[in-house]
Amino acid sequence: MTPDYSAILNTIYAEIQPLLSEGEVASYIPQLSTISPQHFGMAVYCLDGRTFAVGDAHQKFSLQSITKLFALALAFSREGDSIWTRVGREPSGNPFNSLVQLEYERGKPRNPFINAGALVISDILSTRFVQSDIAVLQFARMIADEPNIDFDTTVAQSEHETAHRNYAIAHLMKDFGNFHNPVRTVIESYCRQCSITMTCAELAKAGSFLAQHGSIPWNGTQILDASSAKRMNALMLTCGTYDAAGDFAYRVGLPAKSGVGGGILALVPGDLAVAVWSPGLDTTGNSLAGTYALERFTTLTARSIF
Ligand code: GLN
Repeated sequence: MTPDYSAILNTIYAEIQPLLSEGEVASYIPQLSTISPQHFGMAVYCLDGRTFAVGDAHQKFSLQSITKLFALALAFSREGDSIWTRVGREPSGNPFNSLVQLEYERGKPRNPFINAGALVISDILSTRFVQSDIAVLQFARMIADEPNIDFDTTVAQSEHETAHRNYAIAHLMKDFGNFHNPVRTVIESYCRQCSITMTCAELAKAGSFLAQHGSIPWNGTQILDASSAKRMNALMLTCGTYDAAGDFAYRVGLPAKSGVGGGILALVPGDLAVAVWSPGLDTTGNSLAGTYALERFTTLTARSIF
C-alpha cells in the first residue's frame, strides 16, 4: 500500500516542533551561526515523479558535508576504483573533523565522508578538473535539474577564515604523500563546494539517482552504474552520518548523508529520496530534529532498507 506522504509529513511537522529549540546551530563556521534554529523543512521525491513537501522545504540552506556525496559520485564516476588507493571505506568512529586517526593510519583517511576523506576527493578532482568546485557545482546542477544552484560565497569565505583544522588535516596528508595539489588551492575549492545551497525539494530530487541504481529518474541518464550506486548507498549507511552512523542506522534504517548546515539526504532505494533541514545539531553534528523526523518517516511509512 502506498503511504499517504502528505499526511505523514504534516504529522512529523507537528511532532518535531518541541525539538526545534534543543539543537545547537554550528558556530565554528561563523556565518552558519546567523541562521535561526527554528527552521524545519522536509521534502520527498518519489522515483515516479510525485513530490511532497512541508515547512521550509523551499528555502535554501548550506549543504556543507552533503556536497561530499556529490564530489564522491563525480570522482567515482570518473576515476573508478582507483580512488580507494587514497581513501578507505570504513566508518571512522571519530568526529568528522578529527586528526587523531590520520596520524597513526599514515595519512589515509577512513572514508570519503569525513573531512580528511573529502579533502582527498577534492584533491583528486583538482588533478582532473581545472576548478574542482565548479565541476561539483555543475554536477549538482545537472542531478538537481536546476541551473540556478550556486555557491554562497559569504559562507565559503567565512569557513575559509576559520579552516585551521582542515588545513592541518591536508598538510598532514601531504606529509604522508597522500595530497598532490597545493593545499590552499584545494581548501579554497573545498570551502566553496561546501557552501553550495539547495532547498529540501531540490536536494531530494538531486539525490534521487542514487535511489534508482545510478540513473536519473526523469531522463534516464546513467550517472553511475548500478553496482557503483549500490556501493555509494553502502557508504552512506556506514559512514554518512559520521560517528553516529550506527545509531542512525538503528533509528532510521536508511542510507543518508548529513551536513553541519542541518540538512540530511536519505534514500529508500527503488522508491524515493527524502531531504530534511533543521539547523539545530546534536553533539555528533547531525540535525537533531532532522534525524528524529527521518526516524518517524521510516516508522510511519513502514519503509526502510531493513
Ligand atoms: N565544510 C564543513 C567542514 O569542513 C563541513 C563539515 C560538515 O558538514 N560536517 O568542516
